[in-house]
Amino acid sequence: MSKIPSVIHWFRLDLRLHDNLALRNAINEAENRQHFLRPLYFIEEDIKNKIGGNRLRFLIQSLQDLDSNLRKINSRLFIIKGNASKKLPELLEKWHVKYLSVQVDIDPEVLQHEEVIDKVCEEKDIFVVKRVQHTVYDVHNVLKKNNGAIPLTYQKFLSLVKDNPVRDTIEITKKLSDCCKSPDFDLKEYDVPTLADLGFDESTLGETKYPGGETEAIKRLNFYMAKKQWVCKFEKPNSSPNSIEPSTTVLSPYLSHGCLSSKLFYHKLKEVENGVPHTDPPVSLLGQLMWREFYYTAGAGTENFDKMVGNKVCTQIPWEKNDIHLKAWAEGMTGYPFVDAIMRQLKQEGWIHHLARHMVACFLTRGDLWISWEEGAKVFESYLLDYDWSLNAGNWMWLSASAFFYKYFRVYSPIAFGKKTDKEGLYIKKYVPELAKYPSEYIYEPWKAPQSVQRAAGCIVGEGYPKRIVEHDKIHKENMQKMSQAYKVNKEKKSLKRPRS
Ligand SMILES: Cc1cc2nc3c(=O)[nH]c(=O)nc-3n(C[C@H](O)[C@H](O)[C@H](O)COP(=O)(O)OP(=O)(O)OC[C@H]3O[C@@H](n4cnc5c(N)ncnc54)[C@H](O)[C@@H]3O)c2cc1C
Repeated sequence: MSKIPSVIHWFRLDLRLHDNLALRNAINEAENRQHFLRPLYFIEEDIKNKIGGNRLRFLIQSLQDLDSNLRKINSRLFIIKGNASKKLPELLEKWHVKYLSVQVDIDPEVLQHEEVIDKVCEEKDIFVVKRVQHTVYDVHNVLKKNNGAIPLTYQKFLSLVKDNPVRDTIEITKKLSDCCKSPDFDLKEYDVPTLADLGFDESTLGETKYPGGETEAIKRLNFYMAKKQWVCKFEKPNSSPNSIEPSTTVLSPYLSHGCLSSKLFYHKLKEVENGVPHTDPPVSLLGQLMWREFYYTAGAGTENFDKMVGNKVCTQIPWEKNDIHLKAWAEGMTGYPFVDAIMRQLKQEGWIHHLARHMVACFLTRGDLWISWEEGAKVFESYLLDYDWSLNAGNWMWLSASAFFYKYFRVYSPIAFGKKTDKEGLYIKKYVPELAKYPSEYIYEPWKAPQSVQRAAGCIVGEGYPKRIVEHDKIHKENMQKMSQAYKVNKEKKSLKRPRS
């Protein structure tokens, strides 16, 4: 075992070489001190039970790509099996670590490990450097500028960051010198595991529609940035939730894993928009990126952001538990073909359009099933390739009219909404194949088809495809009443808490 000390970069949600300041700091430090560079990533041994197969595959592909890019600069990725709080203290000792760099994160699960590591590093006098590189802005500074309060509206958020400069991105391409290149180059023990190594059967997954990794992220970014007209005319509400190919960029999985730097995306968009007419936030592409910043700021400034109880921005609503309905929703078996098609696309491919997320989130919560948004967020957490702690919780609160958005009387119709962009129901026919032979006239409401039509289409409602689990027309009106009542109770409670003058 070599006695040469090591510098560690701890990869978390920054699975890239480009615009990775923390990694560059570690490289510089290794070069200056003539220490080994050891870039690490921790994988929990039971990860296959914690995240869905598509997301696991995306993660493994991203790690393979990261390892291959690190090898190009004379380094490699060290995969450590186990959890960081337990394993990292041992490695700090074993590898005589003097310096550790890491990116700033806000997800409480990540922070829980970080607290332990901070303490150990302090005790061992290890220098720790943390860099803000997952968001465009330093969200903690944004909060400070707002006197510690979270901006409750998007416009307020924009006003806070209006004059903030966004630093340039950096590249890491120079090879490490012989003195500090990563040791154990060929040691298999630290190789990126395959899905099979993790006990996951890849044959249960469909084709890879969105391969993970920085290389793919840059390719995808460049592809969209080359479509200058498309970028400048982009208006999110006019994109389609049910096109067969995505109508938005699908850069989200790359941003959430940090395969793509949000700052790079920001600068590229600014470049494309420079000097030509373009759409503006909130509907433009830059506006989409600002929604990400908005939710990150809200998440960083709110305790229990992913829960209803103990979350000061979240309206308290007496949701009900119904495991049968929750299961039907999660598995795409509600009897509403548009809702079911979306949930099945999510499960099969790991990505669905933003407005499709609106549809199913509204349906689960205030629209139809009256089930807590926290339950929906858990299902999304498992299936979404782009799962992101603050974006998921923030958007679920928005859609359930629990925070940020309060027009609870605006409910998405599982019948009319999809028809706006796909009258023929081609999207439903793809993802709910048992209805593929239904005439378009009945594709959104198969229960209305006469028995003879159902038989001719080869699928009887109640046999080959489920009957509706609720009647939307009736239930959404009842739920609106319940929302109205919940708002009233919350308002009364707030006024009781306010000090009397
Ligand atoms: C209930 C619900 C849950 C969601 N959960 C997540 C999640 O876990 N992770 C996630 O990345 N997004 C989440 N979103 C937000 C949004 O749906 C996705 O970011 C978007 O659909 C990703 O597709 P895209 O990359 O093609 O987006 P584009 O329209 O191409 O936008 C570019 C980027 O802007 C950001 N962005 C766009 N819309 C939003 C938004 N509403 N809020 C925050 N950032 C946004 C994303 O990083 C996205 O990649 C959720 C939305 C809803 C309604």
